[in-house]
Amino acid sequence: RIVSAAPSNPQEEALERALRPKRLDDYVGQVKVREQLAIFVGAAKKRQDVLDHVLLFGPPGLGKTTLSHIIAAELGVRLHQTSGPVLEKPRDLAAILTSLERHDVLFIDEIHRLSPVVEEILYPALEDFQIDIMIGEGPAARSIKLDLQPFTLVGATTRAGMLTNPLRDRFGITARLEFYTAEELQRIVTRSAGLMQAPIDAAGALEVAKRSRGTPRIANRLLRRVRDWAEVKGNGHIDRASAEAALTMLDVDSAGFDLMDRKLLEALIHRFDGGPVGLDNLAAAIGEASDTIEDVLEPYLIQQGYLHRTPRGRMATLAAYRHLGLPAPQREGD
Ligand code: ADP
Repeated sequence: RIVSAAPSNPQEEALERALRPKRLDDYVGQVKVREQLAIFVGAAKKRQDVLDHVLLFGPPGLGKTTLSHIIAAELGVRLHQTSGPVLEKPRDLAAILTSLERHDVLFIDEIHRLSPVVEEILYPALEDFQIDIMIGEGPAARSIKLDLQPFTLVGATTRAGMLTNPLRDRFGITARLEFYTAEELQRIVTRSAGLMQAPIDAAGALEVAKRSRGTPRIANRLLRRVRDWAEVKGNGHIDRASAEAALTMLDVDSAGFDLMDRKLLEALIHRFDGGPVGLDNLAAAIGEASDTIEDVLEPYLIQQGYLHRTPRGRMATLAAYRHLGLPAPQREGD
């Protein structure tokens, strides 16, 4: 799937790293989050104190990892990066925690996927900068307390609701990232094209922006494909016409929906009469995991008003029918 919002391979990740803004001032959009962080980071630095733990949540590709790097850069400290599923054993986390230096930032991506035993040792680490570790085995085993350097945890998750309450309560700063506007994405695309030395005009950048599902990662990915197209099929210059032609070839439609988005809306309309239908039934119908629908596909469809979440399940809105060129259904109360 070309435009899925998750990074797909090491090469892709390297390209992403190259496009990552390094400082808060270069971070486009998310005005509220940026303002808050500027204040909290500034205050911590002024007091020479450690920054409170930060929880970032929002769909994939909106800039959570980028922001964690920026927080460390603005604080002038080192960043240590890991993720929930990678930390299998308590000692995996203990090894990282004991290696942290004063005021360092520890970034844990997908923090909702920490195993309960690992999460358990995180609590005292977050609260008192201490961990309990077991020494020895059998009857001789004993637990000792180790002091850690004060550090800041930056946790990222796609949905805040997936965190356990005790973990969520330990974050002093919580920031929700929103989908980007077309104008913000246009700025990101223009900046990225500059870094890639790809000639692009304002209308070309806007066309890529409008079809990027409100997501910088997708915008950068589409930009690379559009550049390929312009180099091979056009004169190398990315304008509105070449962007449009390239994106149509990639099956990204005028609303920025790709094949999966359309498949979901079509299944909802054709197989379930527009809903309401439960998430699991919908997932089975299109052959996707329920989590993928909830984390990746539906947030944008909901935000754009094509999909409705009701207590009885998902429903297609009139806008979805219209977008697919289908006649509006007669519904109760119409
Ligand atoms: P997440 O961790 O939320 O999945 P990332 O931080 O990895 O997302 O961001 C994905 C890509 O999008 C990065 O390569 C980065 O260059 C770009 N990006 C994200 N947010 C911004 C932003 N606010 N301004 C500019 N580029 C951004």
